[in-house]
Amino acid sequence: MRTAEIKRRFLAFFEANGHTVVPSAPLPAIDDPNLLFVNAGMVQFVPYFLGQVAPPFPRATSVQKVIRTPDIDEVGKTSRHGTFFQMNGNFSFGDYFKEKAITMAWDLSTKPQDQGGFGLDGDRLWATVYLDDDEAIDIWHKQIGLPLERIVRRGKKDNFWSMGIPGPCGPCSELFLDRGPEYGRDGGPDADEDRYMEFWNLVFMQFTRGAGTDKENYPILGELPAKSIDTGMGLERIASILQGVDNLYEIDEVRPILDRAAEMTGKQYGARSGHAASDSAPDDVRLRVIADHVRTALMLIGDGVIPSNEGRGYVLRRILRRAIRSVRLLGWNSPALPELLPVARDCMSPSYPELAEEYGRISQYAYGEEEAFLSTLRQGTTILDLAIDETRSAGGRTLSGDKAFALHDTYGFPIDLTLEIAAEQGLEVDTEGFRRLMSEQRSRAKADAQARKTGHADLSAYREVLDAGGKVDFTGYHEVSRETR
Ligand code: ATP
Ligand code: MG
Ligand code: MG
Ligand code: MG
Repeated sequence: MRTAEIKRRFLAFFEANGHTVVPSAPLPAIDDPNLLFVNAGMVQFVPYFLGQVAPPFPRATSVQKVIRTPDIDEVGKTSRHGTFFQMNGNFSFGDYFKEKAITMAWDLSTKPQDQGGFGLDGDRLWATVYLDDDEAIDIWHKQIGLPLERIVRRGKKDNFWSMGIPGPCGPCSELFLDRGPEYGRDGGPDADEDRYMEFWNLVFMQFTRGAGTDKENYPILGELPAKSIDTGMGLERIASILQGVDNLYEIDEVRPILDRAAEMTGKQYGARSGHAASDSAPDDVRLRVIADHVRTALMLIGDGVIPSNEGRGYVLRRILRRAIRSVRLLGWNSPALPELLPVARDCMSPSYPELAEEYGRISQYAYGEEEAFLSTLRQGTTILDLAIDETRSAGGRTLSGDKAFALHDTYGFPIDLTLEIAAEQGLEVDTEGFRRLMSEQRSRAKADAQARKTGHADLSAYREVLDAGGKVDFTGYHEVSRETR
């Protein structure tokens, strides 16, 4: 079943059950300085849960575009983590609660495919519940008929959900599919979360939380005005299940990017010994990272993020650079995005036609970023290799802060890349020294800015241009955007 069809079925099921279909919010989170990107389907509905805005409908359903940067290091290594993914969701704003949320999730999951469901085998499904949630256990066991051996109680880290920042939260119940012994160890979700793959989380929204980064220890401030439901089903995860592939990098919306990367670099994907992600060869992991990151960059630029040195733009820049570097590590030395990004566009534009319409603008940013990065790499890598050789031949194991700073300052070579390449060569970097030099430079820049403000700077060069050419209006913004339409 193609991903687009799974998405359609999900929305149709909940629409038939009285939910209003709501489009995805754009990826950059709005109005919240604590959240760079939307990280769950419920984000756009937060004011309804909190009772700050009266919901225009009691039930909603959506397929939300999501970015989870904390999962970036898992990409390619597990079978189930993407940086970008899509979250199917159904929501109740003070309307139905646990019982209906659980029964609808079970129905859609197990309903035969020829009747509009996903046709999962109920005998291979497991559920987790929050520690003291006997009510949820009763529903799973007595109403659904799930044997107690396949209902697992879990603590706050797994089964008490929040966005990670102040806002609504509550205990949750997750659905897992046992993919079988070829995917890993026996013993339920506690034993192996790649074999027992979580595909749907049902959150019983009931409380509000305060600040804190510890997942298991943040203050609960009070109760929501009404008990509500927020669910999230990973579209790529259910697609990997229904398409019979081992991981979400092999589904219809991602695999063609991976295949193109393998073809370009002459690598054979999937020469692993078994189905488990933990068996993967390093090149397979790299190919998955490339596929994931190229798709993520496409979706980010599509939603208006542009590469820069801070905030969202910096996340995008790092994702693009990691994709580019991974292709190079597989032996490809020319620009890679002109080969890969159009494939990602073709995978995603059936669901997001704006990606095809705006491809001119999207590719301009992406290709421009790659060119700039490749020229930085060319210069910086030579200098870094030299610095690494010098450090080694002097018997050292740590690259000096001076050298890391010079690379950054003179060649624009990013420190995270210096750290990565040094680590590959078995060296550490004096990041303490690097940071000291950075902050000294910042103080100097501040002093310079102060000097300019007070007029102690030489502006005569600008004066000459103005005298020779007269005043010019800058038309770059609308000229460029017109051209890319
Ligand atoms: P996991 O424990 O596997 O990391 P999670 O518990 O962090 O998942 P939730 O916050 O409950 O995930 O998100 C709801 C659903 O979104 C999950 O049940 C899963 O299907 C999907 N999901 C979560 N993270 C990712 C990801 N990085 N890539 C793809 N799908 C994801
Ligand atoms: Mg997670
Ligand atoms: Mg989980
Ligand atoms: Mg979960």
